Amino acid sequence: MKKTGVCILLVVALLFGAFLPATAAGPKEADPETGELNSRLPPTLSADDREESEFSIRGLIAAEPFIDIRGDGGKPVWDTKRYDFLEVEPTNPATVPAALWRHARRNAQHGLFRVTDGIYQVRGYDIANITFIAGKTGYIVVDPLTSVETARAALELLYRYCPIKPVVAAIYTHSHVDHWVGVRGIITAEEVASGKVRIIAPAGMVEEAVNENVLAGNAMARRAAYMFGNLLPKGPKGQVDAGIGKAVSTGTVSLIPPTEEIATPVQEMTIDGVRFVFQQTPGTEAPVEMNFHLPDLKALCIAENVSAGLHNLLTPRGALVRDGRAWARFIDEAIDRFAGDTEVVFTTHHWPRWGKARIADYMKKQRDLYKYIHDQTVRLMNQGYPPAECAERIQLPPSLAREWFNRDFYGTVNFNVKAVTSATLAGSTAIRPISIRSRPRRRRGSTCSTWAVPAPSSPGPVRTSARVNTAGWLRRSTTWFSQSRKTPRPANSWPMPWSSSATGPNLPSGGISTSPGHRNSATASGAMPHSTGPGLMWSAPCRSTRSSTCRPFA
Ligand SMILES: [Zn+2]
Repeated sequence: MKKTGVCILLVVALLFGAFLPATAAGPKEADPETGELNSRLPPTLSADDREESEFSIRGLIAAEPFIDIRGDGGKPVWDTKRYDFLEVEPTNPATVPAALWRHARRNAQHGLFRVTDGIYQVRGYDIANITFIAGKTGYIVVDPLTSVETARAALELLYRYCPIKPVVAAIYTHSHVDHWVGVRGIITAEEVASGKVRIIAPAGMVEEAVNENVLAGNAMARRAAYMFGNLLPKGPKGQVDAGIGKAVSTGTVSLIPPTEEIATPVQEMTIDGVRFVFQQTPGTEAPVEMNFHLPDLKALCIAENVSAGLHNLLTPRGALVRDGRAWARFIDEAIDRFAGDTEVVFTTHHWPRWGKARIADYMKKQRDLYKYIHDQTVRLMNQGYPPAECAERIQLPPSLAREWFNRDFYGTVNFNVKAVTSATLAGSTAIRPISIRSRPRRRRGSTCSTWAVPAPSSPGPVRTSARVNTAGWLRRSTTWFSQSRKTPRPANSWPMPWSSSATGPNLPSGGISTSPGHRNSATASGAMPHSTGPGLMWSAPCRSTRSSTCRPFA
């Protein structure tokens, strides 16, 4: 256990790319077409987001003018001043989409909030929320953030405005590290060992944390740097928001394993006099995750299964691919079990929602969001369309697309469709015999040199290929030469007809490249069909470059 804990902590420190070298590319102005596109809301999205803004600040008890949390030696851990640019300008600049700008301003709200009597949240002190539930003798803390320093600062904020009572229990809603590695900022291992403090988590939480963060830890850390943009400067031409919060804090990580596990699908428990009904939701946003209902407070914690944006079925960092069908099913179960007796629903990112009817509408539309993406993808797959074609064809219906809480600030429909194809039909693009054995990029020759890992010195790719590769590769090389002479490939264009991999600029030398739709068995976390460099997540359908050769799985 000790060794496991150390491994987790080391990898967590790397996970969000805090130690990776910065890139040299500088920020650019938006070109006119991008600026025009960014200047307006998408026509499918409601123009009215007043409810989102109202919910994001409702119940505010207190907010510091700014937060500047430091670690050992004055090391910066969390600094809200970096996002002051969002306050200065209410309308978006040309470099940022209008909808994202509004969402980013809401995510920048920080402070102590009253959710309902006896439930408080500190938001904006890390990428996730920390929640405090008042028990008979102390506080039950839900999801103690990503850093010891930010969790401690949140508890101090609570104590400034609410009664000072001890922490008597902690709940980890799921295995993702942004929800528990700050735990030693609020309690000590000795308090847990002595039985003074209980820690409750879904069964298998530690094992899943190891599976996700240790086995493929280095690879995931590289990818997370692209996903969260931690290395970018903050600003309208840099990092603006992370979709589920501003960013990941960079403080001290810690681990105290759970003392009690929720092992049955639905389990009731009383913690410090407060009644809880836990609902396990395995295979949703995390491999192990749980919601809980507080019947006496008419409150529902829906963990990260429902949020104020479209989540990821497949994360660019490479976490285990998620099952959209199971996700929708467990939201549906939560609606059936709890929504009728719920006056407020709160989440572990973003802001709560109040009112029985509004809550039911919100949960149903989030349920339908994941179900629609899953079902439509499967329908097109069964008609014979490959992943990129499915992704281009599927758009949300107006009833779902108009809602701000379904907007793609974090996950996207396009990427999530590919997640469904990857999870449902592993290796689904490798249908032709010649595609079964995809090749490493260095075999692909000199015209790739501006965007691929440099080729080993050799007289030329064809001779190299003929010497070391199979007959299948020689055939592909020949095709490539005939294509490349006719149409030189721009650096940012879609893959050529011969290409089985969506590679592109900005991949670090020796970086990651896998075939689209091809399950990468080298990663413990499961399917990760795409390369990671910016611009690579959206791999192209074949029709733009393959019109004469592409038919659905023909
Ligand atoms: Zn989270």
